[in-house]
Amino acid sequence: MNNKKKSSKNLVIFTIIFVGLVVALVLLNQNSQPSNRSEGVFDNPPATENQPTLGDKNAKVSIVEFGDYKCPSCKAWGENIMPQLSKDFIETGKASFSYINVLFHGEESKTGALAAEAIRLQDPEAFWTFHHEVFNAQPETEQHDNAWLTPDKALELAKEYTPNIDLAKLKEDMGSKQIEDQVGLDEELVREYNVQQTPTIMINNVMVSNPFDYEEISSLINAQLKE
Ligand code: CA
Repeated sequence: MNNKKKSSKNLVIFTIIFVGLVVALVLLNQNSQPSNRSEGVFDNPPATENQPTLGDKNAKVSIVEFGDYKCPSCKAWGENIMPQLSKDFIETGKASFSYINVLFHGEESKTGALAAEAIRLQDPEAFWTFHHEVFNAQPETEQHDNAWLTPDKALELAKEYTPNIDLAKLKEDMGSKQIEDQVGLDEELVREYNVQQTPTIMINNVMVSNPFDYEEISSLINAQLKE
């Protein structure tokens, strides 16, 4: 065998190794892409016993929103996705819907969460009215980062939209350990499910990869209903 043949054989081996490495790197990179969140399958759905829940609590499918009252996408989700979801699955008794607080925007997120939990303590129905109105009160685009969700604003919204709520009790409860613990429970769930963004939607034990893709949400629910 001459040297020329030998070196071309080496070149072939080198090329094979090199291509193999590139393929391995591409595969490795794909695995670390966030798109793989569509395979966010957990052992169990988030516990909702102590959470505000709409629809049949014993429904086969549990939909959970991890949301933040300061988050514009959560407001958009409530306006664009929730009505259809409610009509197709919650009102029909196929699924329940629970809301868990996420405090990604600090003090104001917490104020909103404390107020909502404190209202739920007085009246679970009024919780959903307040929930809806806090999102409605979110300032338009550029201003949503400014401080607006203060304790006074929460009390003002409660006074206007949930007139049956005792405001003195609401104010007191917002500073109570009982309500603080409720928000703490939510924070534990946020850690347990490694929630990175809001809204994060879970269908039983599966985390939705794109919460604004109604097709994805409905097909996940239908798949769980068939199980
Ligand atoms: Ca909660």
